[in-house]
Amino acid sequence: MKFLMTALMLISTTAMANLHQAPPTLNINRSTKGVFVDFTKVKSEITYNVKMRTAKVVTTIEFIQAEEGSPVFDLVPTPTSVSVNGKNVKTEEASLDGVSTVRYVKETLPKGTYNLVILNEIEKNISFESDHVKSAFWMSDLSDRRYLEQYLPTNLEYDQYKNDIEVRILGTDEEHVLYTNGEVTELSKNYWSVSYPEVYTASSLFFHLTKKGLIPEKKADYKSIDGRTIPVTVYTSQSTQRFMDKALEVLAELERDYGPFPHNQVIIYGAGSGGMEYCGATITSFSALGHELTHSYFARGIMPAHGNAGWVDEAIASWRDSGYPSYTEWRLSRTSMAGHSVYRRTTDRAAYSSGMKFIGHLHEKFKAQESFKVFLKRFFEERKFKPFKTPEFKKAIEDYYNTDVTALFNKYVYGTELSGAPSMDENHKGHEHKENEYHPRLSEQQLLELL
Ligand SMILES: [Zn+2]
Repeated sequence: MKFLMTALMLISTTAMANLHQAPPTLNINRSTKGVFVDFTKVKSEITYNVKMRTAKVVTTIEFIQAEEGSPVFDLVPTPTSVSVNGKNVKTEEASLDGVSTVRYVKETLPKGTYNLVILNEIEKNISFESDHVKSAFWMSDLSDRRYLEQYLPTNLEYDQYKNDIEVRILGTDEEHVLYTNGEVTELSKNYWSVSYPEVYTASSLFFHLTKKGLIPEKKADYKSIDGRTIPVTVYTSQSTQRFMDKALEVLAELERDYGPFPHNQVIIYGAGSGGMEYCGATITSFSALGHELTHSYFARGIMPAHGNAGWVDEAIASWRDSGYPSYTEWRLSRTSMAGHSVYRRTTDRAAYSSGMKFIGHLHEKFKAQESFKVFLKRFFEERKFKPFKTPEFKKAIEDYYNTDVTALFNKYVYGTELSGAPSMDENHKGHEHKENEYHPRLSEQQLLELL
């Protein structure tokens, strides 16, 4: 038994050490090498002051650096203070191959374990009223640097780490409510501590703070097929009952197809527009609810390790929305959905249409054996909470069906068989890449209005 426990602990530790999924070391300039690191433990203390209209954050990050260089992390707002092992340091932004940007510590550090303390202020998607504050960590996988880094220091999506957040509201007596997908302990009025699972990445966390009673709320228990009672919270200015009925129906459908719901809770903010998935949580319109809950399996259950893997979950969720159709090869479009820079952090929009048809084609190809859903269920069970890349998805298909799908992937996913001719993908720009109804691109003002 003791041996078994040790073995299990080793497995769990290995599963969280994700440096093998990190992008290659970055040549920032001739003398600076940006190295990707492994966050092991993070704690953020967020203090909202309604009178002062400020939201100050102190974050402590323990990380392991495997080689000498300048540690890379991310935080979009400029920090007010940064220290490594108690020594004040500067940070700067660096380009990621021209496709993204990260922040790095302007010091060359030897391989080792470090303690990074960062002070910053939250300035995005926050609104101070006379007696309350509204603050949300809205995210998007379609625009660059739109995960947790907009609000708190974090790592890139490949990394999973234990994250604890303490939230305190000062300067008001009005009671607030915190909707978040972690284990919440209310320490006193307007003071919470939240512990998030160690499998969470920069794109996992749902966080919405508002004044209590502003948005009608409904709670129910969902009985999972594995026996768990999963609390479901719906809050919306529309019909809470309509959202709740639909949510319970979709959860039962997803469990029938893909097995037990992978998270400990379901939080649904029926915001009327928007549409973004988090681990067991979503901000969504009514029509996108099924799509977003599917993402709790594919996107926030199996997790993309970087932008080139993001197409998989949108393709699967869109395939489900369309009623799991079949597509023959002549209906497919050539794309390079997974052929972008390894540093890219966003999902290619071709995923919704061309990617969906590609999954539908794999279904067509193998359906004599069984629905492609059966493979997806297996892939979900095996890869749950282990960030993956497209080659691992391809290999899993090949192993499962004992076949080679290299030519299909090269043509329709990697875009390596374009032989100089303009691809269908290029020809169809504006057609294939039309705005997705479930994930509309929202302006800064629209995002603020969702608070
Ligand atoms: Zn989606």
